[in-house]
Amino acid sequence: MIVTGGAGFIGSHFVKRLLAAQDIAEVTVLDALTYAGHKENLEHELVSPRLNFVRGNILDAALVDDLVQRHDAIVHFAAESHVDRSFFEAATFLASNVVGTHTLLDAAKRHGIQKFVHVSTDEVYGPLATGHASERSPLNPTVPYAASKACSDMVALSAFHTDGVPVCVTRSSNNFGPNQHPEKIIPLFVSKLLAGQGVTLHGQGQHVRNWLHVEDNCQGIELVLRRGIPGEIYNIGGGTDLTNKELTGRLLELCGAGWDAVTYVPDRKSNDIRYAMDWSKIADDLGYRPAWPFDDGLAQSVAWYKENSFQWAPAERDEDAPMAEITVRPTAEG
Ligand code: NAD
Repeated sequence: MIVTGGAGFIGSHFVKRLLAAQDIAEVTVLDALTYAGHKENLEHELVSPRLNFVRGNILDAALVDDLVQRHDAIVHFAAESHVDRSFFEAATFLASNVVGTHTLLDAAKRHGIQKFVHVSTDEVYGPLATGHASERSPLNPTVPYAASKACSDMVALSAFHTDGVPVCVTRSSNNFGPNQHPEKIIPLFVSKLLAGQGVTLHGQGQHVRNWLHVEDNCQGIELVLRRGIPGEIYNIGGGTDLTNKELTGRLLELCGAGWDAVTYVPDRKSNDIRYAMDWSKIADDLGYRPAWPFDDGLAQSVAWYKENSFQWAPAERDEDAPMAEITVRPTAEG
């Protein structure tokens, strides 16, 4: 089994999950270790004789071909995933997220891969003032990141229709939990608040996101890997809906800070007011049941960030980042 992006946030949790499953003989992580990928996320797993770690780019067709011919399934997490960066580096997002996905699919077609799970996001549906997006809803991405993911979803599904590559697409809401890179709102706010610094909220903080514990998303992805029907899309939700202001209130409390630490700043461009998905299909068809109560997950996450500051301390982490000159701002994306 190949896991692309296995040194990133969600991918690293998924690798742990696979290694805990005794029927998975071998896991190969393919990860370029960009600014968002950290081998430390797999520090306990790297000693396993069942894990191979390959540092490489999914755009490297020769490397991808060589790896894919020796494996039977691919779970594809690798992507440029941070919305704010996508405003400045759209070409990089299109390269990794779209062309990189195509490179993997092309090799999967050549070598008869038995299952290809393409991991995507609720952002492809765009903003919904009311109601919930089902897997049949139209796509309406409003930022370069979401546009690149929507495009990659289409590329993946077209490989199923044209060449029979057994692709499933998962679309989840905002994930949170340990190992998340500090460009996302929860680790960003926690790291700042724990350091006694202030945080900024866009607009009036009224944007609504569904917060899903990363292990619940991984449960859904594993179900799709094992039992998902090729050609199908599965929404993975079931987290807790909160405005960014509500989320901030919980984080202030957990970090022992008050509202005087919060400054309101003008809204960013294309900040979708609300994402919401209907996830009854994966619940009904595959038995998905999210298990993490939000407050338990948030307390676990804050405790992890307190204990593992070396993982996220921006000065250490972003030293070699290609986008180090870009100010890190809170983002509504997970
Ligand atoms: P992340 O940014 O934490 O990790 C991405 C990983 O991919 C990193 O380890 C990075 O080194 C690797 N990578 C990036 N470009 C690569 C390339 N060209 N070749 C090889 N490796 C490369 O991202 P994440 O939050 O773990 O997200 C994983 C996937 O889940 C992404 O596809 C993302 O779109 C999707 N997703 C994320 C969320 C969320 O809330 N984080 C929600 C829905 C969907």
